[in-house]
Amino acid sequence: MSDIVGIDLGTTNSLIGIIEAGFPILIADQNGDRLTPSVVNFRRDGEPLVGRAASRMRVISPAETVYSVKRFIGLRGDELRAEDAELGFAVSRIPSQPVRLRVGNRDYLPEQVSAMVLRKLKADAEAALGREVSRAVITVPAYFNDAQRTATKRAGELAGFAVERIVNEPTAAALAYGLDKLEGNSKVAVFDLGGGTFDISILELNNGVFEVLSTNGNTRLGGDHIDAGLIDYCAARIGVNDLSSQQRAVLREAVIAAKHRLSSEKKTTIEMPFFSAKQNVSLELTRSELEELSRLIIERTRAHCLRALADAKLTPGELDEVILVGGVTRMPFVQKFVAEIFRRSPNISQNPDEAVAIGAVIQAGILSGAIREVVLLDVTPLSLGIETFGGLMNVIIPRNSTIPIKAGEMFTTAVNNQTVMRIKVLQGEREMARDNWSLGEFELAFEAAPKGVARVGVQFEIDANGILHVLARDTRSGAERTVDINSAVDVSDETVEAMISESLNHAFDDMNERVWTEAKIKAREMIGAVETAFRVLGGRIPPADKTRVDMLVVELRGALESGELQRLKNANAALDKATEPIAAMLLQEALTAETSQ
Ligand code: AMP
Repeated sequence: MSDIVGIDLGTTNSLIGIIEAGFPILIADQNGDRLTPSVVNFRRDGEPLVGRAASRMRVISPAETVYSVKRFIGLRGDELRAEDAELGFAVSRIPSQPVRLRVGNRDYLPEQVSAMVLRKLKADAEAALGREVSRAVITVPAYFNDAQRTATKRAGELAGFAVERIVNEPTAAALAYGLDKLEGNSKVAVFDLGGGTFDISILELNNGVFEVLSTNGNTRLGGDHIDAGLIDYCAARIGVNDLSSQQRAVLREAVIAAKHRLSSEKKTTIEMPFFSAKQNVSLELTRSELEELSRLIIERTRAHCLRALADAKLTPGELDEVILVGGVTRMPFVQKFVAEIFRRSPNISQNPDEAVAIGAVIQAGILSGAIREVVLLDVTPLSLGIETFGGLMNVIIPRNSTIPIKAGEMFTTAVNNQTVMRIKVLQGEREMARDNWSLGEFELAFEAAPKGVARVGVQFEIDANGILHVLARDTRSGAERTVDINSAVDVSDETVEAMISESLNHAFDDMNERVWTEAKIKAREMIGAVETAFRVLGGRIPPADKTRVDMLVVELRGALESGELQRLKNANAALDKATEPIAAMLLQEALTAETSQ
């Protein structure tokens, strides 16, 4: 199978990586940078600049430099928050129309701009690897709706990728931290504080599959806000009230570097030798000062965390792990704060800026088969089964089972001397076979035998590539047939949703029909069994018992005709009870025959 790359398409920065020799690696561009700013600068002539080169143009040509595109992707004008539109470039926000970004006299959809970032990542990866990469896994925030996910996928396609999977960022982070290996049912909080946004997600892990229990956050809370406070604070200390845009840019770069150093040092010096014609600046900054300036911003994450916990109906004590994502979580102050909220030390074993990208790469490796140790996140989207007596759906692999999986059941024949069994493979959530989708059918020939004697084992196996292998074997003759079905796992989200909502809408009627059909099958089986017993035992059945059973059979036939479920159930139960002595006689007969042989 060909390579699949994993991509973290971030608000501020994006990363791309791949599995090499079984390990996830992130790919650097020609300058050795693994972080590509998600920024595009449109030039009057020539191709747009993308990444760091574009980011440098933000100060010089703000109206032509588009950034934070992720805030707009998949949104309509009326869904956009006022503050999100206040960026250096123009944003058109017509209600019920997709948001567009206006540069010069041209409009761009956000996904078109994201595609330019993705195209650069693709080119960088191809240059580094020396081969083409055309398949990708891309991450999105867990709270992204369908339209936002579809637009992200579209961005990937515009960039020339076949998008194999859209993965939730917290899920990717949890994969990078290796949490898919946790035992049993585990609950994980993912605290993600990046440059511009804060996300908190609570995940539940069940047999290697992550489910998002709740998400919360703030799309206007992050390291940029700490930087803004730090710039004002330092400007005041330098004694400059009105920073020129050039000075602001220089100061910004210097304070950000100092902020990063203060995550590992207690104090640092900000040196700006040519800050102005008259001024060489050298400013000492301590970690405590930085913490004081950041306190209010970090404190704002608390309410979101508590709400996410409440929505997941969990207390901090019920969490098995808290992991950190986003560069700001490198600050010791943030780590202490997280420990206090969740009452446990966060796991800091991974690089927080790269965890999401690494997780995307791991997921890509799983899908491409580059990671052999199979920890699959794939689940069966819908139940798989076969049609049985009475047109019922008999589920063999239930919906949401983790792939790969193997399961089977024994079936028998419905009529005497049957020599073929038709195996109809179905997919869906409805109780009756006819309401589910038929994925294929085939016949298995076997030796003729009285009904109920033949034993046919049917086994479903979904392999790591999502292919369903159906095996049917006659246990007496050993005759078997296998059929492979490709489409069992690859079902679109919309189709799954439609099937599930249909099954919910019909749940009551479906269940009634199943119960009726099962009762009907039982009734017919009992009538057949009574006829056989009368024939075998003849006059040995006491006449009173025989009359009573005859009457109950008449009532059972009447109940079958009537279509009344309760009457049928009562008649089944009554006949069942009344034939107990006859069944005991039959058993005795069989035993005697056996011992006298
Ligand atoms: P992200 O969006 O995950 O790339 O996070 C970027 C944010 O993390 C920016 O505000 C960075 O300044 C901040 N950041 C990155 N590294 C550090 C660090 N060592 N200490 C504090 N903040 C950091």
